[in-house]
Amino acid sequence: MIVITSNKASEERIGELVQLIEKHGVKAHVSKGEDRTVIGIIGQADPVLAEQLRQTSGVEQVVKISKSYKLASRDFHPANTVIKIKGVEIGGDELVVMGGPCAVETPEQIDEIARLVKAAGGQVLRGGAFKPRTGPYSFQGVGVEGLIMMAEAGEKHGLLTITEVMTPEYVDVCAEHADILQVGTRNMQNFDLLRKLGTIQTPVLLKRGFSSTYDELLNAAEYILAGGNPNVMLCERGIRTFESYTRNTLDLAAIPVLKQLSHLPVISDPSHGTGRRELVEPMTKASVAAGADGLIIEMHTDPDNSMTGDGVQSLFPDQFAKLLADLEKLSPLCGKTFNTKKEPILV
Ligand code: PEP
Ligand code: MN
Repeated sequence: MIVITSNKASEERIGELVQLIEKHGVKAHVSKGEDRTVIGIIGQADPVLAEQLRQTSGVEQVVKISKSYKLASRDFHPANTVIKIKGVEIGGDELVVMGGPCAVETPEQIDEIARLVKAAGGQVLRGGAFKPRTGPYSFQGVGVEGLIMMAEAGEKHGLLTITEVMTPEYVDVCAEHADILQVGTRNMQNFDLLRKLGTIQTPVLLKRGFSSTYDELLNAAEYILAGGNPNVMLCERGIRTFESYTRNTLDLAAIPVLKQLSHLPVISDPSHGTGRRELVEPMTKASVAAGADGLIIEMHTDPDNSMTGDGVQSLFPDQFAKLLADLEKLSPLCGKTFNTKKEPILV
């Protein structure tokens, strides 16, 4: 249930409404919008409370939300969520490009790729230090050392950093070194991990499980939001279908659907979404046309020798730079701005 307050309701009145709600043994979650405040009621609210609120001053409407997720829904939070990190806004007017290798390999590799991401106009450096591999004998990532290598490269070149975290125990160390934590497709329903991410404020990029519905993705986001971390972005990275030509089927419709159902920023991953380098450019552009707030794209200086199997989907640096130059022209037609020549970010 949500309570839409009247635009004249004072801070004090809103505080009283929260007290009234919480007296009924449920939690009130306040979301301040441009001209009015919405109070979300988390938990089973008794019908008497709804009736009482309807007749209380300062309340314009009491609406029952039938969806299983509440805080993630647009009903609860009509305006777009904009996540602000050191001067970069995700979910706002500017398109955000995250680029980098599948895995951090060496200090030289990540430093050079960071330089190229920055030169091309990207804002965020991606790279996995802990890799979720299908087989136990494959390269599993360089671990904490990789987090440090990436943090140094990001700082040196003026980029934010994003890295994957796989277990609750590693959340703190990953959050210490990276600006954004990625939950990979295989962990979208790792509820202990989601709960732990709800206890911190570090922004989280939550990838859609490769067999998950929109509803399941939004409920996974709800775990993090309900824990108290409002900084969640959703990522479409392709789902498993009968088609085997591509590694996954990038579900482009997910982008406008998630934007309709939720206020959270939506990021597209055309690299894992297709698994083929030659498809990254068209699917990046299609994602921007579909309304994505940002992209996460794999790029490698030596993709043929990358330590994960993802070299085949990684762009070469010149392809990455050309694509971002094209995005500068395309974005304004799709309601976004993107500038390849940026001011240094505030670190
Ligand atoms: C990755 O980003 O390298 C990755 C493993 O992604 P996903 O979880 O989407 O497969
Ligand atoms: Mn990868």
